[in-house]
Amino acid sequence: MELSIRNVRKDFGATPALHEVSLDIRSGELIALLGPSGSGKTTLLRLIAGLEAPSAGTVFFGEDDASRRSVQERQVGFVFQHYALFRHMTVLENIGFGLSVRPRAQRPARAEIRRRAEELLDLVQLSGLGQRYPAQLSGGQRQRVALARALAIEPRVLLLDEPFGALDAQVRKDLRRWLREIHDRTGHTTVFVTHDQEEALELADRVVVMSQGRIEQVGTPDEVYDRPAVPFVHRFIGESSQVPVRIADGQLWLDDRALGLPASGSGEAVLFFRPHQVEVLSGCGGCLAGTVTGSRRLAGTRRLELELGGGRHRVEIDVPIEHPAATRSQISFRPRTWRVYPAAGDGSAAPAATPAPEPEQTAIEPLALYSIR
Ligand code: ADP
Ligand code: MG
Repeated sequence: MELSIRNVRKDFGATPALHEVSLDIRSGELIALLGPSGSGKTTLLRLIAGLEAPSAGTVFFGEDDASRRSVQERQVGFVFQHYALFRHMTVLENIGFGLSVRPRAQRPARAEIRRRAEELLDLVQLSGLGQRYPAQLSGGQRQRVALARALAIEPRVLLLDEPFGALDAQVRKDLRRWLREIHDRTGHTTVFVTHDQEEALELADRVVVMSQGRIEQVGTPDEVYDRPAVPFVHRFIGESSQVPVRIADGQLWLDDRALGLPASGSGEAVLFFRPHQVEVLSGCGGCLAGTVTGSRRLAGTRRLELELGGGRHRVEIDVPIEHPAATRSQISFRPRTWRVYPAAGDGSAAPAATPAPEPEQTAIEPLALYSIR
């Protein structure tokens, strides 16, 4: 089932929880809604489910305007973080519940319900646990039962709201891979809410990055990580360092130092790069230079904190473990990959640059003026 969310707004009191959100979800796609707490992810999911009505705009299931359809008619399957199983029912009864409460005309026979529940129990790899009660299961097992229960009604769309949010890190990671496998086998159109960028990047076909009730970018995991459309996405996904810069004479400048990074246009801008995507230089004609103020071990590398521009800016870069990096020593470096965005503030201050076209543009292409690998 493909979904189309068109110009949907949702008000709760004065400030909208969603502003004019539009999104197309393809049939069979696993899409992640990713954003910080309060960004509107759950609200968007509830609007798709029919648990909330939009203040404006329309949700389409295929060609069908879903506005007048009830939750049941939409035939959506849910798993929520704390959507508890029925405690007094066995695992199999829980899974079969959605079918057993259907109106008589649509209700399968008891034996058929049981057969389907057993089949789903196999799918979620809990065969043999059908007679247990929820209290006799681990947290991860319970969420797998919850998924089997959601799948039992043969949903047209599967909606998962932070389903692994309450589980510990290792279980979350295992379930993430497991969910991806189940999805690849069953092919349900799935909308998965998370505030965990690692989870979204690993699991989803496409990631919808949300902030303050707006969609900031929609793209594949590679697109949102490698070509963030706006500074928010750069900061929210992966690690970022940023430095205010100026564009002049075809390159970037920090104060009166040329950085050796080409750019088109002119005016104030912000340079973003990722700590692991830099090269350390031994002296240079054009580069960033900083003073080491801190150093810590990060798995296979050393993370340095640097002050730039006489202490006005702080950035982080990764260097090899064996790098001496004494405190207060000077380091020259240049990002290997970077993005430049117009300086924040009133639009008129943004550089009047013509962005160099990139080979592949994401759906909502940036304010980014220039990017290079
Ligand atoms: P997320 O799931 O991304 O954390 P939500 O969709 O739950 O965000 O919330 C988005 C915004 O809408 C928040 O500011 C939240 O306080 C507000 N909100 C959500 N549901 C309600 C409600 N039923 N009544 C009032 N405000 C709400
Ligand atoms: Mg939420």
